[in-house]
Amino acid sequence: MLVDALGRPLRDLRISVTDRCNFRCTYCMPRDVFDHDYEFLPRAELLTFEELTRLVRIFVGLGVRKVRITGGEPLLRRGLERLVADLAAIDGVDDLTLTTNGSLLARRARSLAAAGLHRVTVSLDALDDEVFRSMNDADFPVADVLEAIAVADAAGLRPVKINAVVARGVNDQEILPLADYFRHTGHVLRFIEFMDVGTANGWDPSAVVTAREIVETIDARWPLEPVDPAYRGEVARRWRYRDGAGEIGVIASVTEPFCGDCTRLRLSAEGRLYTCLFATEGLDLRGPLRGGADDDELAALVAGRWRRRTDRYSERRREVPLDLPKIEMSYIGG
Ligand code: SAM
Ligand code: SF4
Ligand code: SF4
Repeated sequence: MLVDALGRPLRDLRISVTDRCNFRCTYCMPRDVFDHDYEFLPRAELLTFEELTRLVRIFVGLGVRKVRITGGEPLLRRGLERLVADLAAIDGVDDLTLTTNGSLLARRARSLAAAGLHRVTVSLDALDDEVFRSMNDADFPVADVLEAIAVADAAGLRPVKINAVVARGVNDQEILPLADYFRHTGHVLRFIEFMDVGTANGWDPSAVVTAREIVETIDARWPLEPVDPAYRGEVARRWRYRDGAGEIGVIASVTEPFCGDCTRLRLSAEGRLYTCLFATEGLDLRGPLRGGADDDELAALVAGRWRRRTDRYSERRREVPLDLPKIEMSYIGG
């Protein structure tokens, strides 16, 4: 088994298929940075679906079992169903999922399910329409995302996971309304601590609403009890409502880092490999891929990189300077 320098196996892969997005979430792609002058990747620099499928086969040979498609907004990538179908056909991909802002999902959920997608995660930070529109900064209505979640569920992409990033003074008042809305639905709402990914979002530790605060807020209204993790490396701590209304999760990347169990590799849309969400440098795979490397050579490159991996940024956050040239969330996909 391939393990890194800290004994962690390679299990999960996140593929970013585009760095573009139709939202400008203030904590991810603030409009003053991601404006008309911002240079997104040119099309020719994106890995093709054929290149991606070939790489995923190689990653599966090295231990990957779970694949998540992300972005930017992955549904902006034309013909994504074709990639989904190709990845779903790979023996060894046990879990194939997609993270989306939900804006284009209502009309695509059925075709994605038909192509072989297993589940979706939909990001939704507020139930209040005004708060949601101002957070996505694209004036996108919350009703359309709620509709997309229902359509995805009906299409069989379930259980739908809902990701909510909580930022103090921005949407912390939305914790209870979100919890209330998703109780008894079978969807799993997961709250994520606001992270210092990239350099554009003006992160500040005081803006982090801790997982503990979130759990206490909900527990005071609807009592919760902990649920055992489903598998090693599960990033969300799970809690269930004592009254049987379902489950929630909290992802405490800042206050309770889980680097020790981090089995995740990330591939950017242009084919760079990152072994940590907070990395500053990636390993270029597109060059060798387009330069004629065979599968064994590519596998050796990836395996070599994984074996040398020592990343544990979140555990070292306090020692690391805040102004590192870290990659942006919209580039690497979360
Ligand atoms: N556009 C898609 C979406 O929003 O679901 C996929 C890409 S997005 C970068 C992936 C996830 O990262 C989303 O759930 C988003 O809320 C989360 N995210 C972005 N910036 C974040 C930050 N600074 N801290 C925590 N989560 C963040
Ligand atoms: Fe776009 Fe997702 Fe980032 Fe929001 S979180 S700006 S939807 S990539
Ligand atoms: Fe994994 Fe890096 Fe996050 Fe730690 S900080 S859990 S190593 S991605």
